Amino acid sequence: MGDEASVAAGQADGAAGPAAEAPGPDLLRREILIPGGHGAAFAARAGQLVEIIDLEGQQVADFVAFAERNRTEWLSTTHTRSALLRLTAVVGDRLESNWRHPMFEIVRDDVGRNDIITSMCDDRRYRLDYGVEGHRSCRTNFTEALEPWGIAEWQIPDPFNFFQNAPIHPDRTFGNEIPTGKAGDKLVLRTLMDSIVSVSACPQDLNPCNGFHPSPLMIRILEPSRGPS
Ligand SMILES: [Zn+2]
Repeated sequence: MGDEASVAAGQADGAAGPAAEAPGPDLLRREILIPGGHGAAFAARAGQLVEIIDLEGQQVADFVAFAERNRTEWLSTTHTRSALLRLTAVVGDRLESNWRHPMFEIVRDDVGRNDIITSMCDDRRYRLDYGVEGHRSCRTNFTEALEPWGIAEWQIPDPFNFFQNAPIHPDRTFGNEIPTGKAGDKLVLRTLMDSIVSVSACPQDLNPCNGFHPSPLMIRILEPSRGPS
């Protein structure tokens, strides 16, 4: 407890002298409840925090984003893997666009399992691989949610699959296992570029991807109490 107090005082001193107030709580700008199997889209300003909360546990959050200034720039798993020289993303990583600009930084990750390899689910996946017609998919979720921003289905890039448990094996194959996320676990991104973001609570219920039971996500957009100076 004593350590926490001294850290807070130190931050205040560093910012504006001994009289500065300790940072207050981050200001909640918006809260979006995404039902299991559905999606949403929203704007996120540079400096804002985007929290993705796994409300019930074992739920994957497919995540795509476009630069607000130019829709030909988007968050790219390929460029992020190349920049990180890693097949997953962890706290401290900056996620890059196809133009090699940092768009988000992971600042908190309670689960510690993120997939940046696999494609999103789409209607062909359910029809061709499972023989199911009319199943909701991450691609249809993104298409519906991004339509108001003039973004078409073909423009949607490969997603970051936060909370997805795709362990990479020594022979370089990878798995698809039940996520380890527990109710209330969250991943927090710091937005580095004004962006249009879409999140899908993946509807996949025919394999372990979401514990065979798609469940809701909560999105919270916050203004940090002490933004970058
Ligand atoms: Zn999906």
